[in-house]
Amino acid sequence: MTEQTPAEARHCGKCGGRSAEGFVLDMGYGEYKPARWHEGAPTTGWTGNVKYDKKALKPLRAFRCERCHLVEFYAD
Ligand SMILES: [Zn+2]
Repeated sequence: MTEQTPAEARHCGKCGGRSAEGFVLDMGYGEYKPARWHEGAPTTGWTGNVKYDKKALKPLRAFRCERCHLVEFYAD
C-alpha cells in the first residue's frame, strides 16, 4: 500500500480555525504505521491481539486545529 494523497487543510468544527492534516502513529514490534479505522467494538482473540478484517480497515486522518488544538478524525 503506497497510495499517496497530498495533505490538505480543513476547518475546525469547534472554532472554525485552520486544521492541518496529520496522522496517528501506530507503533508495533518494529513496525511504524499510520493508525487505521475499523468498524465495531474491538474483540480480542486467543493471541491477545485484537481481531480485525484487513479489508475493512480505512486510513485514518487526523486534522489538528492550529487555534484550539482540537483533533478531528476522518476515515474516508
Ligand atoms: Zn479549533
